[in-house]
Amino acid sequence: MSERIAVIVIDMINDFVTGDLKCERAHRIIPNLKRLVEAARKHGIPVIYSNDAHYPNDFEVHRWGKHAIKGTKGAEVIPELKPTDKDFVVEKRTYSGFYETGLDPLLRSLYNGEGVRTVVLCGIHTHICVQHTAADAFFRGYKIIVAKDGVEAFTQEDHERGLRYLEYVYNAKLMTVDEIIREMEKVKT
Ligand code: ZN
Repeated sequence: MSERIAVIVIDMINDFVTGDLKCERAHRIIPNLKRLVEAARKHGIPVIYSNDAHYPNDFEVHRWGKHAIKGTKGAEVIPELKPTDKDFVVEKRTYSGFYETGLDPLLRSLYNGEGVRTVVLCGIHTHICVQHTAADAFFRGYKIIVAKDGVEAFTQEDHERGLRYLEYVYNAKLMTVDEIIREMEKVKT
């Protein structure tokens, strides 16, 4: 993967970790994600936060109840993974980080306009927002790596099924955070 990669951290926001729609299992990936984003920054690899930021009548709010309302604390990245001013934050209003957002143009603008080739996906939930973002990345021709110990879901079953689906349908390479960091160390920046 040693070419034009970007790390996309999905929905590691207060409401999904400790707030209105909290996922207990999200806590266990925080240390891994912290190491991953720190390694990326160190190697000049772009870090992009893809965050839910809803209006009160978004259809998804009707499905899941009120969460991640735009401009509230619940929609902010958790303090442990707080973005730096070099990171990017791209708001979304449904499961996919690409759907009617600026994510694709952002990825294409990086690396001096050569564009990102490989996206490293992490965050929550394996079988919902990670999966939908992977779908849209796949449709747009990006190579996909999923940090298998950097994604989580409400249940182990959903998580494992999500990983299998990502690998089978979107040709995602499943790697541990340690393996990804080792690859980053080979990238010349
Ligand atoms: Zn949402």
